[in-house]
Amino acid sequence: MLRAANLTVRYPGTTQPAVERVGMESVAGTMVAIVGPNGSGKSTLVRALIGLVAATEGLVELEGRPIAGWAPAERARRVGFLSQREEYPFAWRVEEVVAFGRYAWLAPLASLGKRDREVIDRSLQRADVGDLRHRKIDTLSGGEWQRVRIARALAQEPRILVLDEPTAALDLGHEMEIFELVRELTAEGLAAVVVTHQLNLAARFANQLILLDRGKAVAAGVPAQVMRADLLERVFGWPVDVDRVVDGVPQLVPRRRGGSHP
Ligand code: ADP
Ligand code: MG
Repeated sequence: MLRAANLTVRYPGTTQPAVERVGMESVAGTMVAIVGPNGSGKSTLVRALIGLVAATEGLVELEGRPIAGWAPAERARRVGFLSQREEYPFAWRVEEVVAFGRYAWLAPLASLGKRDREVIDRSLQRADVGDLRHRKIDTLSGGEWQRVRIARALAQEPRILVLDEPTAALDLGHEMEIFELVRELTAEGLAAVVVTHQLNLAARFANQLILLDRGKAVAAGVPAQVMRADLLERVFGWPVDVDRVVDGVPQLVPRRRGGSHP
């Protein structure tokens, strides 16, 4: 559905590519997690996947067509994207922000029709923010705001969700809610691509992991192929143990400096 092959992105004025010869494929009903240290190219990769930055080399295809050939609104009817950072200049209400997602389907400045309102309602319910619909967005907690953003993406009726660190700064309960929600959405047929620093959750929830290190995919595959102590130690520069298994997948425990893990 959405795939990259041999993808390289080099920003103007830089010598090292931010992403170098990366391949990946996002398929309906599955979650791909992109992991790696700060600055390893995760955001660049997802931005290239949705056509926000151009490939220097290689290709990105959405439904078999080069991503650069998609008109933005047409692309937004296929792909919902939550960027890592987003500022709103005005405290809109939750249902207004979710309604923005409908503009992927509407003529410029057209008003919302009955079907649009139904999709907005459904999206609010699906992300469990129906009770917040009249709240101003500057009054929301971090977890509520992320769910509102997911509702807005769902209002685009996408086939693919691309989420860049959707749980950064969320406590563990709210973080689990986001992962469970995205997993449910994939069970309903969506494809999901999630950038996250939560290696353990990525391993438990995702079908495929891609580990980036300085722009290169140094490991990719089912979670057990990536959750390897030697590999993670090298990439993250910190000693780890990977000997616990939860939900059938290996889990990582970082070691204390100089200490030994029981
Ligand atoms: P991550 O999301 O994994 O933290 P990024 O994709 O944001 O990594 O960044 C990868 C590399 O590209 C970093 O070295 C970063 O400084 C660089 N980079 C990101 N955006 C730009 C840009 N617009 N111009 C130049 N360099 C950039
Ligand atoms: Mg990033």
